Amino acid sequence: MPELPEVENTRQYLLRSGLAGQRLGAPEITWAKTVREPSVGEFIEGVAGRTVTDVQRRGKYLIAPLDDGQYLVLHLGMTGSLRIHDAGREPPPMLRHLFPLDDGRELRFIDPRKFGHLWLLTDPADAMSKMGPEPLEPTFTIGALTESLAARKAPAKALLLEQSVIAGLGNLYADEALFLSGIHPERTANTLSDDELSGLHRAIVTALTRSVAAYAAARDAEWPDPPTALSPWTIPRAAGEGCPRCATTVEMIRVRGRSSWYCPACQPKDVT
Ligand SMILES: [Zn+2]
Repeated sequence: MPELPEVENTRQYLLRSGLAGQRLGAPEITWAKTVREPSVGEFIEGVAGRTVTDVQRRGKYLIAPLDDGQYLVLHLGMTGSLRIHDAGREPPPMLRHLFPLDDGRELRFIDPRKFGHLWLLTDPADAMSKMGPEPLEPTFTIGALTESLAARKAPAKALLLEQSVIAGLGNLYADEALFLSGIHPERTANTLSDDELSGLHRAIVTALTRSVAAYAAARDAEWPDPPTALSPWTIPRAAGEGCPRCATTVEMIRVRGRSSWYCPACQPKDVT
């Protein structure tokens, strides 16, 4: 599932491809349920002829302001990706929607499992539930993280997935941040010490920064067709694999239904 680094990679890809400044033709929508708001007809009519002025990101959402003050908002869902191709290039499999651009290219929304979403809104926040701080911006401080977690009795892993706690984290980077900070996924958030909270804060920033850098390098190396999914985390996600730090075999547990990989030695459940 695309998380902050993947969505940021998509944003950078779209900007470098020159999406900002392009005028959109009438989009072709082949799976109506993708359009959440307004109706499909109003969406197509509202987008056609508008010029994209920028590409922004909030959490896992992409936001393209249009020249009439509205916002095209995109969420990639579980398996979505975006590409800008010449219109004559063979469409990729699972192409669901396309937006013609006025220079003869197309913005293509590929979405095998059809969990992606589109909105056309006057306020992009209407697409989202309450969002916490952006973890790579200065508003994400140790104090902000502590405030979000200190009174909560839920497992740390579950809270890291809540977009109102931190915007943009998903299953993979939550596991990575817990691994880097030596915190068991089931640790109750209100039992974390000040040192653990500051370690977790540092680990979140480190995991995301590393990944964003890996995507930037891959874009440079493989332009104009950079990868949409890398595996830039260190905790192995397969049975029988060893912890890169201590070689103990990693384990998987389900925390509120989500698979959570961890090292039982580096991330002990009972901390004395
Ligand atoms: Zn270990």
